[in-house]
Amino acid sequence: METTHDFIKELESGKYDWMKDKPVISYCTGGIRCEVLSSLMINRGFQEVYQIDGGIVRYGEQFGNSGLWEGSLYVFDDRMHTEFGSPEDPDYVQLGHCVHCGEATNQFYNCANEPECRKQYLSCERCRETTPYCGECATERASA
Ligand SMILES: [Zn+2]
Ligand SMILES: [Zn+2]
Repeated sequence: METTHDFIKELESGKYDWMKDKPVISYCTGGIRCEVLSSLMINRGFQEVYQIDGGIVRYGEQFGNSGLWEGSLYVFDDRMHTEFGSPEDPDYVQLGHCVHCGEATNQFYNCANEPECRKQYLSCERCRETTPYCGECATERASA
């Protein structure tokens, strides 16, 4: 799903109706979008709907790297990601990989092929210097 509006289509498709009598937990970054999703689910007859109070941001503040959340959290500001604890922490998990070389990274960049491409992609610093494009644009440029 790309937008909150997609929730409606997804739910109305009926493909999640088998979960109606099961406990369901929704979560999102700040706890606003799952509020929307929860009320849509309740209206459709879901019996036990929960949400994480304050969203993943609050959860991360409370549990740091030792909670059930793994990896970074994408955020909608210039930082593009936030961490819940130190990378030196033994519970720290890095899930992201550079789209070009596969090296572990949690840094998002805007594709330099603007305004044609509006993608954000994960890249290590080294590849960002040599190839400041998302995977698709880099492939196109290489074959052009
Ligand atoms: Zn790289
Ligand atoms: Zn691109």
